[in-house]
Amino acid sequence: MRLSTIRSAARRLCVVLASAALLTVTLNTTAGADRQALAAINLRTPFDCGQVWNANTRTNHNPLLSVDFQRSNALNQRVRSSASGTVTTVRDLGNTSYGKYVIISHGQGITTLYAHLNSFNVSVGQSVSTGTVIGRVGSTGGSTGPHLHYEQRTNNTPVRVVLNGVSIRYYGNTTITSSTGC
Ligand SMILES: [Zn+2]
Repeated sequence: MRLSTIRSAARRLCVVLASAALLTVTLNTTAGADRQALAAINLRTPFDCGQVWNANTRTNHNPLLSVDFQRSNALNQRVRSSASGTVTTVRDLGNTSYGKYVIISHGQGITTLYAHLNSFNVSVGQSVSTGTVIGRVGSTGGSTGPHLHYEQRTNNTPVRVVLNGVSIRYYGNTTITSSTGC
């Protein structure tokens, strides 16, 4: 190989490496912006003031970063919006997947999802405040007992759940006392 050919190949490799570095920076910046947007919204525990729940995360959960809220007497407890926003989805998938579920958009690409509901208290297009009752805990869809399946998403991708500014433990259990509407 002639020296000029080697130099040319080296230049091309540099361009490729520089492009890869730029892409990495762009992705990191986007993730940082998502975290900032999430922190700014301060999503709240989706239950009555003072109610204690176990927030369970596990490696075989689908989607992976979802939280299952569990407690005794979970059935028909009130489910409240984590923040103000607009209801974008009220849907019943029958005996599969989420069953009865609600999605609320909080702006800046941030949404929350509430699944396996027993009943709905909101409709699509409705504006909600932090703590507005959106439904009741149930066991609809692919659920084996009453609990709330909960997700926080940025640009429709599930992210690690943060409530009241506190990160939920991954993977394991976190005891949470709701301070929503207190
Ligand atoms: Zn779940």
